Amino acid sequence: MNLVVMKFGGTSVEDAAAIDRTAKIVAGRVAAGKSPVVVVSAMAKVTDQLLRAAASAAQGDRTGALAISSRLRSRHRDTTAELVKNPADCAELTTWIDQKFDSLDEVLRGLAAILELTPRISDLIVSYGERLSSRMVAAAFRERGIDAAHVDARQVIITDSQYQKAVPQDQLIEIRAAEKLRPLAAEGKVPVMGGFIGSNEAGITTTLGRGGSDFTGALVGGALAAEAIEIWTDVDGIMTTDPRVCPDALRVKVISFEEAAELAYFGAKVLHPATILPAVKKNIPVLVLNSRNASCEGTRIISLAPHCKSPFKSIAVKKKLSIIDVVASRMLMTHGYLRQIFEVFDKHKCPVDMVSTSEVSVSLTVDSNQQLPAIAADLSTLADVKYEGKKALVCLVGEDIRGQNGIAAQVFAAIRHINVRMISQGASEINMSFMIEEDDADEAVRSLHAAFFKDPDPAIFDVEARKQLLASSS
Ligand code: ADP
Ligand code: ASP
Ligand code: MG
Repeated sequence: MNLVVMKFGGTSVEDAAAIDRTAKIVAGRVAAGKSPVVVVSAMAKVTDQLLRAAASAAQGDRTGALAISSRLRSRHRDTTAELVKNPADCAELTTWIDQKFDSLDEVLRGLAAILELTPRISDLIVSYGERLSSRMVAAAFRERGIDAAHVDARQVIITDSQYQKAVPQDQLIEIRAAEKLRPLAAEGKVPVMGGFIGSNEAGITTTLGRGGSDFTGALVGGALAAEAIEIWTDVDGIMTTDPRVCPDALRVKVISFEEAAELAYFGAKVLHPATILPAVKKNIPVLVLNSRNASCEGTRIISLAPHCKSPFKSIAVKKKLSIIDVVASRMLMTHGYLRQIFEVFDKHKCPVDMVSTSEVSVSLTVDSNQQLPAIAADLSTLADVKYEGKKALVCLVGEDIRGQNGIAAQVFAAIRHINVRMISQGASEINMSFMIEEDDADEAVRSLHAAFFKDPDPAIFDVEARKQLLASSS
C-alpha cells in the first residue's frame, strides 16, 4: 500500500466548489495508485463562529448564540444540497446534520443557563466543525466515485485531558490507526476523518489547539508510517514570508524539518507548530501544497535540505505578544533567581518565547493572555514588574546563517527605521529574532524581505513565478 495522508485546510473545504476541487485532487492520487487517508478541517471560519456562539451563550446571550448556530446550520445544509445530488443520500445527510445542530443548540441553551464556559465544553462545541465537514466531504467523495469511508477522528486520535491543547498519546493512536484506518485502506477505501479533534481515554472530546488539523495529519501519517504527508492549503507552499503581508513572497521549494518547525513555532500560520514532530520521528517527507493550484509542486519538507546561497529561507511573525520586565537590584550576584522567576511561569503553565537578562533585570516575552495580571502579581513578590502588550516577534529562519559573518548587521541595517526592543540569536543557530511594536511588524517584514530576497537562489526558491508575475504586470 502506498499510503499518503492528505490534509485539507478550511479553505479547501469552504464551499461546494472547494470540496469539488478537493475530490478531484484525491481522485487523482487514487488514479496514480496511491492509498490516500484524508484529514479535513472545519469549513473556513466555522471554528471561529462556533467559539463566538459559545462565548455569547456563556455571557447569557442565548438568542445571539442560537442565531450563529442557525446560520451555520443553513451553510452546511446548503452546501450538502449543492454537493450531494442523489436525493436519498442528500436527505440522509441533511437529517444527520439537523440532528447535530439540534444537539449543539441544546448545549448552547444549557451554557446560556449556567453561564460558565469550561475548556471541556468549549472543545465539545468546536468539535462540531470537523465532525460536520468530514461527513460532508466523505459523502461528496462517494458521489464523485471515490470509495470513501467516514471515520470519527475521536476514535483514532487519543489524547490526554488537557482540553483545548490536548497532548496526543502516540502509542494508542498507532493502535487505533491500525484498527480503524489501515484495514479500510487495505480494502481500497479512502478513510475521511476530521482534523483537530480527539478524545481522551474516557471518550470525552478534546482538541489539539487552533490550527491543529495539520497536527492530526502528521499524527496519522506517523502512526501509519505513510510515505508522505500532504498539507493542502490556499497558498503555493511555504513562502519566503506571509504573502498577505508581502505579495512578492516567493515559494520555498525545499526546506528542512528543523527550519519548518522553527518557522511554525514563530508564527508562520501555514503549519501548526507541532506538525513536524511525528514526521521527523519517522522521517516522512511533508509536502505543503495549494488546493487552488494543484499542479504547483509546493514545498517539500525533508530532514536535510540542500545548501542555499541566501542566509534565510523565510521570515515569520508572531503578534499579540507581551514583554514582561522583572527588575530587582537584589538579583545582583545572586543565584537561583532565574529559577524563581521561571517557577512562576511554570505554575501558570505559560510558555516563554524569548528571554534576555542583564545584571539586575530579566525581560521575557509571552503570548498576551488573561493570566498576565496573575503572573505579574506572583512575580511582584520577587521584584518590580512591568508588562506591556501589543508586541510582535519577527523571526528570520535559515540553516545557512551558520558560519556567515555580518548577517546581524544586514538585518538591523534593513530595519534601522524601526525601534527594536529585544534581540535573540544563537539559541537554535538557525534563527535570528527580535521584538518590536506590533504596529511596526508588517513594515519590518517588507523591509527585511526586500533586503534578503532581492537575488534569491533559484535552487531553493521559485524564481520563475516571480519573473512571470513581473512580466504579466509590466
Ligand atoms: P489552512 O486553513 O489550510 O490550514 P491557514 O490559514 O492555517 O490554512 O494557513 C495558510 C495561511 O498561512 C496562508 O493563507 C498565509 O496567509 C499564511 N502564512 C503565514 N506565513 C506563511 C508563509 N511563510 N508561507 C505561506 N503562508 C503563510
Ligand atoms: N478548525 C480548526 C481551527 O480553525 C483546526 C484547523 O483548521 O486546523 O483552528
Ligand atoms: Mg492551518
